[in-house]
Amino acid sequence: MGLKFYNTLTRKKESFNPIKPGKVKLYTCGPTVYNYAHIGNFRAYMFEDLLHRYLEYKGFKVTHIMNLTDIDDKIIRDSNKEQKSITEFTKPYKKSFFDDLDALGIKRADYYPPATEHIPEMVAMIKTLMGKKLAYKTEDGSIYFKVDAFPKYGQLANLNIEDMQRGQRVENDEYEKQELRDFALWKGWKKEDGSTFWETEVGKGRPGWHIECSAMSIKYLGKHFDIHCGGVDNIFPHHENEIAQSEATTGEKFVNYWLHCKHLIVEGEKMSKSLGNFYNLRQLIEKDFSADVIRWTLLSTHYRQELNFTFEKLGTAQKSISRIRDFYSSLEKYDVNQKSSLQKKVDELQQEFENCLDDDLNISGALGAVFTLIKEINVFRQGNTLSKEDAIYIKKFVEKTDSILNILSDPDENVLQDEEQKLLDERNQARTDRNWAEADRLRDILLEKGIVLRDGPEGTIWKRK
Ligand code: AMP
Ligand code: ZN
Repeated sequence: MGLKFYNTLTRKKESFNPIKPGKVKLYTCGPTVYNYAHIGNFRAYMFEDLLHRYLEYKGFKVTHIMNLTDIDDKIIRDSNKEQKSITEFTKPYKKSFFDDLDALGIKRADYYPPATEHIPEMVAMIKTLMGKKLAYKTEDGSIYFKVDAFPKYGQLANLNIEDMQRGQRVENDEYEKQELRDFALWKGWKKEDGSTFWETEVGKGRPGWHIECSAMSIKYLGKHFDIHCGGVDNIFPHHENEIAQSEATTGEKFVNYWLHCKHLIVEGEKMSKSLGNFYNLRQLIEKDFSADVIRWTLLSTHYRQELNFTFEKLGTAQKSISRIRDFYSSLEKYDVNQKSSLQKKVDELQQEFENCLDDDLNISGALGAVFTLIKEINVFRQGNTLSKEDAIYIKKFVEKTDSILNILSDPDENVLQDEEQKLLDERNQARTDRNWAEADRLRDILLEKGIVLRDGPEGTIWKRK
């Protein structure tokens, strides 16, 4: 059986065939950095981690881009409240987002383009749309996409646009538009925006949210690419609008496969601040749950099922992880005089593991195959000892599954100790101060402690040697 995904666009499971054989271009909607990301957001990023890792497991070369939304209404509102520039205001949230990704063992995307660094690309798209008379400017300087002019509008969310009442508010803003279902590509500057604006060829203001993902995905992945993901809340209006403005601009199909994960709820209820069940990673770690237990809990429910996050599940996750780790270390015990007899069994279960993941990332089935293997080998060992060959063969299989599960290594490997974090913070400060000698000195100290740094456009990434 080949790899299949449920495509929101066609509403069925389809065989996955990338545009270029062996290569996959993947875009996933990233965080709005006005707050610490909550575990619901990480459910989406974890499902995308599973997708990214399994594509690599299958041998594809994956190019993965995730945007950082560092300009929007909430960012403007809250940065003004704190009297900070948006760069200053969003910085700690960007940092904690990357720290949390690392703690959860989520594989990094190739690049995290921030919206504020791609305004010219967005402006160019808006100009094209205006040139094609598919967008119009209103008196307040905002620019809207003309939904009427794009007959395929509604295909992703399966909406009939005639049913979208023209008198209904579809966007939460106070701008003038010809049709209430039209959406903002550009938001003209208002007094409340203060000093946050760009002076551009399409006017003074800032981009709408949807255009940012179209402009950045096209810039890094091309006009037509393979997979686009997000949570179900992104289907409408965000992804529907992305399709409309991208296809209207390029005249080509935008994305082949749209994958969306269902939401995370907590103890059966919607996660909300007022219910007191709103968690970010730090809060759970403070309650003494380790990041790998949280990883397992977020990973182990199929992405198209609602994930009910319970404290009981965290307990079960701990047991499952220990079971795999204990089994893995028990493979050090074998008898060199025994003959190999288990490889066929391992092959069968590996096949089952892959068949399940091939089937729209059926993770529970795949985990079932791993636990069946553990059970059967343990039963075998009640009366026999493992041969060296079998032990090595089984170990390889467990390691292969761990290229996806990522729970075998010590979770502390993913977290910096206080002293290490202090050194890293000092080095970041030295770089901000352009004190390169001090930054190099601190880099060397961290290196002696086994921590390798890599400075990139989205900040410094660390990893243990
Ligand atoms: P936001 O920062 O709100 O734009 O969300 C970032 C990502 O997290 C998007 O892909 C959302 O669909 C996803 N997301 C937000 N809330 C949840 C939730 N409770 N469960 C799963 N995914 C979510
Ligand atoms: Zn997006």
